[in-house]
Amino acid sequence: MDIPQEHSAGGVVIRWKGAQTQVAVIRPASSKALALPKGHLNPGESCEAAAARELWEETGIHGKLKGKLGDICYRYSFRGRLISKVVSFFLFFYEAGEINELEPAMRKEVAEALWMDTQEGLMALSYPGERDILAKALKRI
Ligand code: ATP
Repeated sequence: MDIPQEHSAGGVVIRWKGAQTQVAVIRPASSKALALPKGHLNPGESCEAAAARELWEETGIHGKLKGKLGDICYRYSFRGRLISKVVSFFLFFYEAGEINELEPAMRKEVAEALWMDTQEGLMALSYPGERDILAKALKRI
C-alpha cells in the first residue's frame, strides 16, 4: 500500500528568564493538545526557513537559528486515509516579538501560544516525539 508522505518543519524556541529556561508552545485550535509550533513547507522553501516562518506565524515571535535537532515521524488518518508524516525540528533562541500576538487568520489554527518553563514542557507536551525533541534541545543549550 502506498501511504502519502507529508513533511513539516518546526521550532523549539528557548528564552532565559533569570536562571529558568522557557520554551514557546501552542494549543492548536483543532485539538486539546499542547504542541511545538510547526507546519508544512511552502514549495521551494527550505526546512529551516519553514520552521522560522511557522514559529513566527503560530506564536508571534522570531528566533535565531541554532541548528537542527532531529526528525520525528508519525502516522495519522485523515478522512479514512492513512498519512505518514516527518517533522524536522530546529533549535532557536528567542530574538523578538510578543508571544500570542497573532495575525487574525492564524487564530483559526492556534487557540493560544505561550511561554512555558522547559521542565514543565517536558511533561506537558502532548506528543512523546516532541517531548524527546525538547529534551534534546535542553541537552544542547
Ligand atoms: P502541520 O502543523 O504540520 O501543518 P496539521 O496541523 O495539518 O499539520 P498535524 O499537526 O500533523 O496536522 O496533526 C494531524 C494529526 O496528527 C492530529 O490527529 C494530531 O493530533 C496528530 N499529531 C500531531 N503531532 C503529532 C505527533 N508529534 N505525534 C503523533 N501524532 C501527532
